[in-house]
Amino acid sequence: MVAEVIINRTAKKLNTTFDYNIPKELEDYIVIGSKVLVPFGKGEKLEEGFVIKIKEKSEYQIKDIKKIEDNLTDKQIALAKWMAKRYFCTISDCIKLMLTPGTRTRNKEKRVQDKTINSIYLKKDIEDINNDIELGKIKSEKQKRILEFLKNNEGSTVQEIEAFTDCSRAIVNTLVKNGYLEIVEKKVNRNPLINKKVEKTNKLVLTEEQENAYEKVKNTIDEEKYEQFLLYGVTGSGKTEIYLQLIEDVISKEKTAIVLVPEISLTPQILDRFISRFGEGKIAILHSKLSIGERHDEWEKIRDGEAKIIIGARSAIFAPVENLGIIIIDEEHDSSYKSEVTPKYQAKEIAKYLAKENKCPLLLGSATPDISTYYKSIPDVNTEMISNSNLEIQPQKEKITLLKLTKRANKSSLPSVEIVDLKEELANGNRSMLSVELYSQIEENIKNKRQTILFLNRRGYSTFIMCRNCGYTVKCKNCNISMTYHSYENKLKCHYCGHEEKVVTVCPECHSDKIRYFGTGTQKLEQEIHKQFPNASTIRMDVDTVTKKNSHEEILNKFKNENIDILIGTQMVVKGHHFPNVTLVGVIAADSSLNIDDYRASERTFQILTQVAGRAGRENLPGKVVIQTYNPSEFSIQCAKKQDYDLFFETEIAIRKQLKYPPFCDIIVIGFNSESEEEIKKTSHIIYQYLNTSLDKTKFIIFKPMPSPIDKIQNKYRWRIIIKGRMDEEANTVFNNCLKEIYKTNLKTTRITIDVNPNNMM
Ligand code: ADP
Ligand code: ZN
Ligand code: ZN
Repeated sequence: MVAEVIINRTAKKLNTTFDYNIPKELEDYIVIGSKVLVPFGKGEKLEEGFVIKIKEKSEYQIKDIKKIEDNLTDKQIALAKWMAKRYFCTISDCIKLMLTPGTRTRNKEKRVQDKTINSIYLKKDIEDINNDIELGKIKSEKQKRILEFLKNNEGSTVQEIEAFTDCSRAIVNTLVKNGYLEIVEKKVNRNPLINKKVEKTNKLVLTEEQENAYEKVKNTIDEEKYEQFLLYGVTGSGKTEIYLQLIEDVISKEKTAIVLVPEISLTPQILDRFISRFGEGKIAILHSKLSIGERHDEWEKIRDGEAKIIIGARSAIFAPVENLGIIIIDEEHDSSYKSEVTPKYQAKEIAKYLAKENKCPLLLGSATPDISTYYKSIPDVNTEMISNSNLEIQPQKEKITLLKLTKRANKSSLPSVEIVDLKEELANGNRSMLSVELYSQIEENIKNKRQTILFLNRRGYSTFIMCRNCGYTVKCKNCNISMTYHSYENKLKCHYCGHEEKVVTVCPECHSDKIRYFGTGTQKLEQEIHKQFPNASTIRMDVDTVTKKNSHEEILNKFKNENIDILIGTQMVVKGHHFPNVTLVGVIAADSSLNIDDYRASERTFQILTQVAGRAGRENLPGKVVIQTYNPSEFSIQCAKKQDYDLFFETEIAIRKQLKYPPFCDIIVIGFNSESEEEIKKTSHIIYQYLNTSLDKTKFIIFKPMPSPIDKIQNKYRWRIIIKGRMDEEANTVFNNCLKEIYKTNLKTTRITIDVNPNNMM
């Protein structure tokens, strides 16, 4: 027998298969999807590849497959092929997500018992590493093997690397020296399920609303058919209880459930809810902090059919589940479900594919659904707006059944929200970061020994300009997105269309000269708190304090267990935990997320404010939220105050429709990355021309190639083309053909990626 094999290393350039003979002794084991080692190229070097077809004979002189490493099912291969086309990547990029982590060594001793261990992480982007390998910058086979291994197993120990790659510590050290790897000393996170004593809980009697929602989904489980649901209900409305009861039904039918949650919310508290209902034996947990040995064991537990519930972050959707009975995606609006590295997939789309294939329901849950998800769940909204471009509106023809929960299940009330106008504070001579209102609330809270969370949403690179007198910010007249200040050119630029404007020094609205660059750090806020409340204890959580060493969870535990007065943090504070003693949440400046250079700025602001507000007063103590802003009348802030998602949605969807943003089209970003600016210019221009002649102009707007907002990283130029339109089957084929054409031109250093609706436009 003969196998068609795609070679991993060359997949990007060739994406074609090579024939290999299947030796007699391997015939019983090799199936479509086997990961194999084959001799390839000069010197008979062994390369890793995947079998994608098996046939009787070959027309060529062929060599033998040398070794088999892992097997995938036909269904997994089909999914990988579907993904490769949809996400413009190679089949082997996709197959890698489905392989068992590590190799076949069910080695319990790997569960390291030390208090701290040295873990190894990649220091460069996976794509940069791939590129360096392709360009021959890394020549040593052993170095390549270690990098390949770490791509899927970041955080492994040196011992693990030695065992799995058969390389010595010295090679790891060389890679560290050359800037590819970093060593991080880390506390051991043992498998969260080990030795856990959790009391058993039983199902609760559902409220009428819960019962309604539950019945609808249960019917599709019983009838074994695909249907997509959106369970929309405020925090505490009993969504999780519904998940638990549906999973119970799925298990009683001898089927399996996948539950996706954002990585950051995979906390013991969430897991306890599942363990207390079902017992740990039936549960497999997949997240990035497990050691490779543990991940391997969880994977096998799933493959053996022992695990009936798989809980994990984005990539858990690829767990080797047979007999899927339901897929649940909690906090479905969360941006972590979209992968920002190749393959740039959206887990919700994979979930839909799998739910259809397995004829089972897909249940999305959220208190603040993604605008695009919610849009698909309601009859067309009446948005009478005149469009400002000739692009045709392209509604998505997909149906999601809406299930609504309007009340909190445990009858606790929603917190009261107050908005403070920072312009008035300034006018009254208060130049500190805390308004009079927030100051007195914090003072009161400290006196009552209650805890406070202060939230400051600041994003890395972008700086915007705002008038402190009237709240005016400079927005692009074409895109309605905050323009970003570029200090080296002293200009404002729109990161979408490239429109430029001069820097203003006097406010065009109110003519005041209090117009400034905006941005404040958590560190500065902490200093100010110490000055104003010298006796208060504080803890800070942001990208500086949350490292691979100190997890997000450890900081939150400390805050809770040591009853620290004030937690100061960025976005990270809004997810996961719940703190019974937190009664006050302060948002220092809601404006920062409003002015990110992204069409989702209002949506993100509303989501964040609603989530932050949800942190206050979750048990029997009433909660209070103070939102400080220069734009108190901004609709996303007003809607967050009222906790009125529906009103927010109606306003936002009208804007999206008018300006042609998702869900009315997709935003497609073709990224170029190269050492040669010449080659980038040439390549991007060829693609631009190709698309201009191949795409229907009434359905697509194609912006000219231009440098990305961050236009150079590590001496590599970055350019991009932005396209608005619907990435349907037809367009997908055009883009794939375009890539094929461009790869024929023998690119020297340029790397091209295509990303549909990326999270980050940098
Ligand atoms: P969500 O997932 O929407 O945030 P949860 O399912 O966590 O909501 O429910 C919030 C709280 O209400 C939990 O403490 C849960 O035990 C409780 N709860 C949920 N459903 C019921 C019910 N039907 N009867 C009583 N308490 C309930
Ligand atoms: Zn002004
Ligand atoms: Zn613009």
